[in-house]
Amino acid sequence: MKKIATTTLLLAFFFAFSQQKTIDQKIDALLKQMTLEEKIGQLNQYSGDNAATGPITIHLNKINEIKNGQLGSMLNILGAKYTRQYQELAMQSRLKIPLLFGQDVIHGYKTTFPIPLAEAASWDLPEIEQSCRIAAIEASASGIHWTFAPMVDIVRDPRWGRVMEGAGEDTYLGSKIAYARVKGFQGKKLGDLNSVMACAKHFAGYGAAVGGRDYNSVDMSERMLWETYLPPFKAAIDAGAATLMNSFNDLNGIPASGNNYLIRDILKGKWNFKGFVVSDWGSIGEMINHGYVKDSKEAAIAAIIAGTDMDMESNSYRNNLAQLVKEKKINVSLIDEAVKRILRKKFELGLFDDPFRYCNSEREKDALNNPEHAKIARKIASKSIVLLKNEQHILPLSKNIKTIAFIGPMVKLKRANHGFWAIDLKDVDSTYIVSQWEGLEKKVGKNTQLLYAKGCGIEDESKADFQEAIDVANQADVVILSIGERWNMSGEAKSKSNIHLSEVQENLIKELQKTGKPIVILINAGRPLIFNWTADTMPTIVYTWWLGSEAGNAIADVLFGDYNPSGKLPMSFPREEGQIPIYYNHFNTGRPAQNETNTNYVSAYIDLPNSPKFPFGFGLSYTTFQYADLKLSKQKMKNDESIEVSLTIKNTGKFAGEEVVQLYLRDKVGSVVRPILELKDFKKINLEVGETKTIKFTIDNQKLSFYNSKLEFNSEPGDFDLMIGSSSTDIRLRDNFELIN
Ligand code: BGC
Repeated sequence: MKKIATTTLLLAFFFAFSQQKTIDQKIDALLKQMTLEEKIGQLNQYSGDNAATGPITIHLNKINEIKNGQLGSMLNILGAKYTRQYQELAMQSRLKIPLLFGQDVIHGYKTTFPIPLAEAASWDLPEIEQSCRIAAIEASASGIHWTFAPMVDIVRDPRWGRVMEGAGEDTYLGSKIAYARVKGFQGKKLGDLNSVMACAKHFAGYGAAVGGRDYNSVDMSERMLWETYLPPFKAAIDAGAATLMNSFNDLNGIPASGNNYLIRDILKGKWNFKGFVVSDWGSIGEMINHGYVKDSKEAAIAAIIAGTDMDMESNSYRNNLAQLVKEKKINVSLIDEAVKRILRKKFELGLFDDPFRYCNSEREKDALNNPEHAKIARKIASKSIVLLKNEQHILPLSKNIKTIAFIGPMVKLKRANHGFWAIDLKDVDSTYIVSQWEGLEKKVGKNTQLLYAKGCGIEDESKADFQEAIDVANQADVVILSIGERWNMSGEAKSKSNIHLSEVQENLIKELQKTGKPIVILINAGRPLIFNWTADTMPTIVYTWWLGSEAGNAIADVLFGDYNPSGKLPMSFPREEGQIPIYYNHFNTGRPAQNETNTNYVSAYIDLPNSPKFPFGFGLSYTTFQYADLKLSKQKMKNDESIEVSLTIKNTGKFAGEEVVQLYLRDKVGSVVRPILELKDFKKINLEVGETKTIKFTIDNQKLSFYNSKLEFNSEPGDFDLMIGSSSTDIRLRDNFELIN
């Protein structure tokens, strides 16, 4: 028996090895046939012009470049029909090297899922993986081979508009989500027809832009880089991410696209990354603006030496590399290396066997019209919603309420629910977005009357529509008010210095409050907003982010209790912009942090508490959970041992529901100062009314390790606090243990 198993294993190894060898041999054979121009061609990526919305619109000379075998990849070509047309052009080239089609499939393709930050609020890794899986199934059927996702940038600054694209502020949660997203996009293996290559971006530090201003400089310690910003990239690579994208920023003075340390030393060196690196849009050329290089020739040198394999849209490679080889300023081996990395992915995708295998109009029709996808989008959208307040237990609403006034500028909008980075396929508005109004209409019984008023605009400060809203509210038993940000107020290049809910919207709440009616407030946004008066005064607040195609249904499911909310904030919500950057896992200072009088010279603001308005990990449920019976298998551990932690959670309320049980640790004394607490594990569990479950965690040396001042990742003996709770501030159970030599 054992012998058979060993033989099978050997055969499997041999098979894998011979496959690998075959691809290597094929790449080498192809490379030998390629002219320098053809090689350089593979390193370029151009944008088309969202072809699904019209005929092919790409400049003629670029079409000739494709036919001449001088283009490796395109982005923004939507639809099987169009990807096929471009691939046909590539097949007219001498060596018939297929094009790669890339696209920002950030939160869905035809079916739009919640924005990534909202999905992160679900803390539901299988669901997150599933949403990326479906995005891949849909996009790949349109001929797309490659998504520029996931964005794995850690971000502690909600002024930065791209918070909507990531998983929030925490490195542990962000790494888990990065892993799940890559697995989802890439499926079982590259080359399966329903998978797309993932691209972890933006490497690196992009989320730490000074002042939260997009594209801005990043200056951080090496230790901070390794401990906080790099782990999600490593997780993406561990999950098999085929590609990485540079970031726009300079990191400690060196632009990422020309950053040897990041790409050569860390990524391709220490991490042994075998995929390829694409620049961000024009970022190689932008090194001139940074003042890092003099012209596009120098930009090309810096980028190719640093290890950026593909130039997205800056033309620096296209215009300069051949000349640079002639002038002996760069060695052709640098170009060969980049070409090989790109060709490898084309082989792995099976494009040399059949360049048209992905762009299949029949498959596209099925994939884009699969009702199962909508069901899954609805589920993950409900799971992304965060219940911030439910003081009077107005929620869940009864389906037999006589009259509901559904008020607000978001109620009847469609595109608003998609948020930034949704794919604008042709006719998207009429095809597939369930507005909040439609969702509610379907949910309530025949005897419920639904009244509508717009109430106000989003940015427009006019109060002209207030009166109509007040009149409608006066006729209703319950008011639901849907407000927030327009779909393009958070996203790329959408940094804001003021992230308050707009004044007109808060004023509308004040007017409606005077009616004395129960009011449920829905806040739709791509980032944490500031809304202190509302948060302090209004008893019922639901954070609905931008939830995608199924927003209307998902919101209705939560409002009426068909889904009991379980979302937990993946970012701290500040009280004021002046607190930013704000994050839960900060260090203690040498001073206490109370905010009484400032005579003690405490580490506090004299005009504001240090704490956020809503903390990381926070979110309510319609039910209550009791945490008990915390047990540790031992109180002392050596670093080759582990501690088993167990506890029980009981659903003590009146609704079945899910809870995210969060485990935090604090290393009490370290050779570098340690955070006051750090998320190290979590479990999302489902409990029926009255049900109790036992939860288990394992604490091993990895969870106790950190980067010391020499950048070694190790644990240090000493005392640790263990905290288990329902948020980073709602700690229900505590214990401690010691790591011994
Ligand atoms: C963004 C990238 C994106 C690329 C292609 C850039 O402006 O920073 O995240 O993938 O455009 O659309």
